[in-house]
Amino acid sequence: MNLYGLTNELVTLPTPYYLYDLDLLNQTLLVAKTAAKKYNIHVHYALKANHNDPLLKKIIATGFGADCVSGPEIEKALESGFSNDKILMAGVGKSDQEIAYALDANIACLNCESLEELQVIATIASSKKLIAPIALRINPDVASFTHQYITTGTEDDKFGIAINDLQVVLKYIQEQPSLNLIGLHFHIGSQISDNSVFDALCEQVNKINKWFINQGIQLPIINMGGGLSIDYLDPVKNSIANFDAHFSRLRNGLQISEIQQIHVELGRSIVGQCGNLVSKILYKKKTAKIEFLILDAGMTELIRPALYQAFHHIEPLEITDDKLPLHNYTVVGPICESSDTFGKDISLPLSERGDILVIRSAGAYGEVMSSNYNLRKKATIFYMENKKLLL
Ligand SMILES: *Cc1c(COP(=O)(O)O)cnc(C)c1O
Repeated sequence: MNLYGLTNELVTLPTPYYLYDLDLLNQTLLVAKTAAKKYNIHVHYALKANHNDPLLKKIIATGFGADCVSGPEIEKALESGFSNDKILMAGVGKSDQEIAYALDANIACLNCESLEELQVIATIASSKKLIAPIALRINPDVASFTHQYITTGTEDDKFGIAINDLQVVLKYIQEQPSLNLIGLHFHIGSQISDNSVFDALCEQVNKINKWFINQGIQLPIINMGGGLSIDYLDPVKNSIANFDAHFSRLRNGLQISEIQQIHVELGRSIVGQCGNLVSKILYKKKTAKIEFLILDAGMTELIRPALYQAFHHIEPLEITDDKLPLHNYTVVGPICESSDTFGKDISLPLSERGDILVIRSAGAYGEVMSSNYNLRKKATIFYMENKKLLL
């Protein structure tokens, strides 16, 4: 037995490689779409999580929009077939060229993060005789209790406009004929596993929305960002994120009127589980206390463990006998950095040089963050669908 019933083929492919399971992506998209429909939530896919064409094709076919964080991402979204009225742009540091490009492309909304940015957008839009559709990304000062490098919604994070600055910002917008405020935007972190964080966020959003309504402004779009977590510990049992619970939480937690839409921007929860990094054991090495497995994939292919101490489930590609005694290994890559470690105390069957391991849940922020450090070549990409390898 093996992971996908495809062992023979998968064993002969040159490692390291990324393997995307399009069947799982299809199932995930169906579950997400069904839940979105049930709770009337508008989904935008955060392109930065993974922008491979076969994945984007399926996401577009599902009817989701795109959340982009750079000019080239907008370009990619348009080329891939997302329609411009479903494309949003976020980002704390949009360049003048990116803003001009976004305005020319006539995308649905620019989510703005500071007064200075609003001034730049107003100037560029007015020089083009255009009206920029904007939302305010507000920093709601809600702790997301995720890793400190992926929290984005507390007072000291670089993201968003502080609640205390809203009065000044709103006054500025109202004086600018080239700015059209259409929404509020919140994104407080990624891989948020404590769901009560979203309850706290809803409460803050309700207060902020009420403040706007008291100013006589009812904004049509309330964008709650991404952050829905996936199960890195047990990707086999929980291969699909709980979209229904998340959307229900937002729908029930937000006190908004009928004309206000709830938008979300999901990245990880859409593509995280469908990607795997497949790697061969190059060497085994023992110190007094630790037994290392040295793989041919490293932080150049998947930087999440080195960057945010992220955990990824690791298992052998071929499981010959479930009852094999398990050993504890420290699984590392070949790169000249000690942070190039995929996991410590990883329980695996007795493993040898030449065995192939699968690092699971690598579909989001995996391949897209890979680098050529040490002049390494990028890993090859393979796709499987209908239980077949697509070649
Ligand atoms: C990265 C990002 C997302 C996606 O977050 P996930 O946790 O992957 O769902 C959504 N919105 C914004 C503004 C982002 O920067």
